[in-house]
Amino acid sequence: MSNEFCTPLDITQVERNFGELDPAMSAAEAGVEANRCLFCYDAPCMHACPTHIDVPSFIKKIATDNLRGSARVIFDANPIGATCARVCPVEVLCEGACVEKTLLQKPIEIGRLQRFATDHAMASERPLFEKGESNGRSVGIIGSGPAGLSCAMYLTRLGYDVSVYEKREKPGGLDTYGMAEYKMSQEVSLAEVEQIQKLGVKFRLNTIVSGSGVSDGSTIVFEQLMSLHDAIFVAIGLGSANEMQIPGEKTAGVIDALAFIEKIKTRDWENIPLGRNVVVIGGGNTAVDAATQAKRLGAERVYMAYRRTETEASAYEYEIELAKKDGIELLWESAPTEIGGDDHVSAIKFVKPNGDIVEIACDMVIKAIGQQKMRSFFTDVAKVETDEKGRVIVNGQMQTSDPKIFAGGDCANGGAEAVDAAQMGKLAAQGIHNRLTGETVKFAGNL
Ligand code: SF4
Repeated sequence: MSNEFCTPLDITQVERNFGELDPAMSAAEAGVEANRCLFCYDAPCMHACPTHIDVPSFIKKIATDNLRGSARVIFDANPIGATCARVCPVEVLCEGACVEKTLLQKPIEIGRLQRFATDHAMASERPLFEKGESNGRSVGIIGSGPAGLSCAMYLTRLGYDVSVYEKREKPGGLDTYGMAEYKMSQEVSLAEVEQIQKLGVKFRLNTIVSGSGVSDGSTIVFEQLMSLHDAIFVAIGLGSANEMQIPGEKTAGVIDALAFIEKIKTRDWENIPLGRNVVVIGGGNTAVDAATQAKRLGAERVYMAYRRTETEASAYEYEIELAKKDGIELLWESAPTEIGGDDHVSAIKFVKPNGDIVEIACDMVIKAIGQQKMRSFFTDVAKVETDEKGRVIVNGQMQTSDPKIFAGGDCANGGAEAVDAAQMGKLAAQGIHNRLTGETVKFAGNL
């Protein structure tokens, strides 16, 4: 078995394979599509969006050539509107509601229109929003992913002094490091962060928040954050990859899906580890992302194996269709039992429901079986309550059992879409403002 560790494809071909799945609309296309919208009263698409963007309003503005106004409607309800335009499962959210609740045979392409308007705004130097007049209060946000960015933007608009603590080198969390490259490049995520940074949000990168010790250039102790800020918003996402707990799991050539996707984000194609025959374990969207990207990098055969049935897999139907179109071989009801190979993976065995054992020769195994919850951070460092699954417990205002500490995003909901995290960040900003001033504020889209 050969241990191939780079793409066998010509780099031009790889670049082509990683071109965007849904390319940008031209102005003419956007105009035609916007004018197809029925501008429904009490629009179902708006209800289906977790951040409740006023979709008919932003589409109307595209139809009347007011792109800046359109982008303002979008970012007002969702500070990561450019990311969501690319990565949201629109088929089951806004666009799904559009086709289901109207007489239109084909839904309005809301995602692509949203991208058209937000791209226009991000290409302009003129800011869409202003920092609010300083109210003398400060908030510390741990984590710069979708929830953290969203909370930071709303609070800054209200006049808070906001500092975001991020352990990585670049801001944006999963938007920057975890999205399949053909859905969204790092550039888009970083441009969106820049908009928020320009509002006046301070980012402290390469900074780990710890439970004890001494704060230095790369570490800050949680207690110190508590004394520096009037409120804390914890948006730390999820932890390390779950273990399969089968023999051979530590063999070289077994890699975690998010680590694999992260390497692809560098677009350093010739140095991305890749097997000739790749087996991806899992049935969610990360598994599909890893499998299709391995194939597009040039792996000869890629399998995606899931222990349950196709209908039980959490990947959306359109993602499974994409996997099939890319030639991924789908193995349902296949539970991994053992990984073989001495100094490098050479095969993996699965057990079928009838007890049969199936063995597949491979030189790379990618695990996409979810990530661990951040229970210990919450119980040991922040000292707030978690539920039986290890998620931090929050109320409707995203407040934890310590009234000064708020939390949201994957660490609170166990792992959902970026748009869900953005909405939690918005609710947290409202909750924090209410706690610190006694005033009630409702941001756009909070119905
Ligand atoms: Fe337009 Fe469809 Fe939304 Fe109605 S449901 S406002 S047609 S996008």
